Amino acid sequence: MASQEIENLASALARLPGLGPRSARRAVLWLVKRRETALDQLLGALGDMRDKLVECDTCGNVDTRQPCAICADPRRDSRSLCVVEDVADLWALDRAKLFTGRYHVLGGRLSALDGVRPEDLAIGSLLSRVEQGGIDEIVLAMNATLEGQTTAHYIAERLEGMPVRITQLAHGLPVGGELDYLDEGTLAQALRARRPIA
Ligand SMILES: [Zn+2]
Repeated sequence: MASQEIENLASALARLPGLGPRSARRAVLWLVKRRETALDQLLGALGDMRDKLVECDTCGNVDTRQPCAICADPRRDSRSLCVVEDVADLWALDRAKLFTGRYHVLGGRLSALDGVRPEDLAIGSLLSRVEQGGIDEIVLAMNATLEGQTTAHYIAERLEGMPVRITQLAHGLPVGGELDYLDEGTLAQALRARRPIA
């Protein structure tokens, strides 16, 4: 029987995506054996996260600075804006190091099933960014799922009549595929072959 404290940590870890109760217990044991090194490092990193992480007011990225490093980087092309569902997608695309513009995180996708409506997503702030001018291209980088594509078409409709070119990621994305799970090569290829939205 493990102590309550150990159980508490294991059940907290088990809630993390990709970690079930079994691997959570293994992680706890691993940490207990490395109290001086790995546990301290983890505590420090968690404390930093709690104290410093903020959501970028401009794009919705999560970073330790406001605006985030991507929005603040003058070398990035402010004329090209890539719209993604989640922060994880932004990070996945940025790891591929092919897109040199800036991002806009919607915070989800439209879903009748889950009751996610346009006003639940950062679509209004996207339209404001475009209305402010200085943006030539919007890259819709939604997941290749039904809901992702519904979201892309909805945004394309809302952008109609605005002076921007609207493109979306090309095929090469597996149908039903989520950006975050793709290898960087596939992602880079899809971004390179982006096309006007139908
Ligand atoms: Zn930002």
